Formats: sequence, C-alpha cells, structure tokens
Amino acid sequence: MLNDHHPRKRFGQNFLHDPGTIERIHSAIGARPGEHLVEIGPGRGAITEGLLRACGALDVIELDRDLIAPLAERLGALGALRIHNQDALRADLCALAPSGAHLRLVGNLPYNISTPLLFRFLEQLDCIADMHLMLQKEVVERIAAAPGDKTYGRLSVMVQTRCAADSLFRIGPGAFTPAPKVDSAFLRLRPHRPERYPLSDPALHARLVAAAFAQRRKTLRNSLGKLVSPALLETAGIDPGQRAETLAVEDYARLSNLACKLDAKTGHSQAENAE
Ligand code: SAM
Repeated sequence: MLNDHHPRKRFGQNFLHDPGTIERIHSAIGARPGEHLVEIGPGRGAITEGLLRACGALDVIELDRDLIAPLAERLGALGALRIHNQDALRADLCALAPSGAHLRLVGNLPYNISTPLLFRFLEQLDCIADMHLMLQKEVVERIAAAPGDKTYGRLSVMVQTRCAADSLFRIGPGAFTPAPKVDSAFLRLRPHRPERYPLSDPALHARLVAAAFAQRRKTLRNSLGKLVSPALLETAGIDPGQRAETLAVEDYARLSNLACKLDAKTGHSQAENAE
C-alpha cells in the first residue's frame, strides 16, 4: 500500500497530503487532455492522480523502487501511467518527447538535490514547454529575485537568462508528511521562446556569473579580474567599480558575448588578457 510507505530522508521524501494545496497546484498547472506532462518524483501520487485524470496519460520518473509497484497498482487504471524507475539527474527528458514536441515538467522536488535538478532541466530546455516546481521557499526567492534584491545571485541570473520565473504561492510545512523544517513555494518557469538573451558561449557565461557572485562584496574589477579586463567591462557599458548584484541578466549576457567575440578575434581568452 502506498500510504504504508515509510518516508525516506535520503530521497528527500516529504509527501503532500493537504487537499487544498494539491488543488492549488493542479489549477496552477491547468493540465489539459492530450498535453504531454512529465512528473519528477511522484512519490505516493499526491499530484500524479489529478494530472493523470486531466491528461489521460503521463510519464513519471521516480528513484525509489519501493514506490513503483504501489503507484502502478493505485493509479494505473486511471490512464496510461508510464513509470520510469530512474534517477531524474540522469534522465534524458527529450527522449520522452517526439522530435520537436515540448513537455510540461512538474515536480515537488526532493529539496536535497533541487538545484542540480534545476540545472539539469535547463540543459534540456529545447524540449520543455514549461515547468511547475515545488521548492524550498528560499530557493524560489533566489530564482525569481531582481537585481538589487538581497537574494539576487548566480541562480537568478542562470535561470532568468533562459526562462521567465514566477513565484506563485507559498506552502507551509503542515501540508507535508513528514513536515519539512522549511517553508516551500510553487514556481513557474517558462522558457523564453525565442531566446531573449542568446549566448555565444554558455560555458563562458556560466563561469563569468559564478566568478562575479563568488565574492559578491567585491567590485567586478576584482571579482572578474581573472576572466575579463576592466577595459572590456567598460566596452560593455559596465562600470568596473560596480558589484555583481547591480548587474541585470542582460548585462551578464552582453558581457560574456563580448568576451567571447574578443577571444575569437584575438585567439586568446580574456582570462589570459586580464593577467
Ligand atoms: N510528488 C510527491 C508529493 O508531492 O507528495 C513526492 C514529493 S517528495 C518531496 C520527492 C520525490 O522525489 C520522492 O518520491 C522521492 O523518492 C523522489 N526522488 C528523490 N530523488 C530522486 C531522483 N534523483 N530522481 C527521481 N526521483 C527522486
């Protein structure tokens, strides 16, 4: 029986039980017949059931093998429930979508690995229509923050470069069994289509953003000194005396594209030039 399953901490299992919260999640997603949804970590099926009723078919990716048979037994009759006993960190989501199709991704994510999961999903955005994710409230705040906010940082820039991020509502610990020690929030991510900030070299952009926020109290002249020269910052219209949190998502894209262009022209990386 699904409800007999003892929640496992190592799998980040906090199961939703509050009907009002489950209802809010379903109406925020607004799943319709014929849409292709994929749920990450269905657990005991709290969200799964309504999605399957709405769509008639659903792919779910669950790591805990002890949950697989009870899920199939309880929900299998409601529609085509395709259960993948897999680690979502390694899952090839695009393999689930026919070529050119877009999946709608849903998940009350295991909080212990939510950031690596998020980066994994960002790598696969080409086949994702949108994402509705439950995460720790602080993580949602960091993702959706604007320049100048206390929580604006690497996560905000990396996610908002590719997606529009909306924090939809908060959920208290009482909605889960066992109750987590933190508050949660429900997040909607919609990939920018077409891309709003196309990147010439996504790896360089990621390095640059990470370096800028690694020492957020330092000026960009100091924190980015190994990657880009003050002259290049100025060419990008950025004052080297500014701090990381004052730059917009667009500024990071412009700066990394300029650094990439210059590298291509000179054959040297900006890192070498700045030394
Ligand atoms: N969706 C259920 C709910 O809302 O009640 C369960 C949510 S619980 C927070 C997270 C779920 O993700 C658990 O079922 C857990 O076993 C599963 N999980 C943990 N790590 C995973 C991974 N790497 N890949 C896929 N599923 C994972």
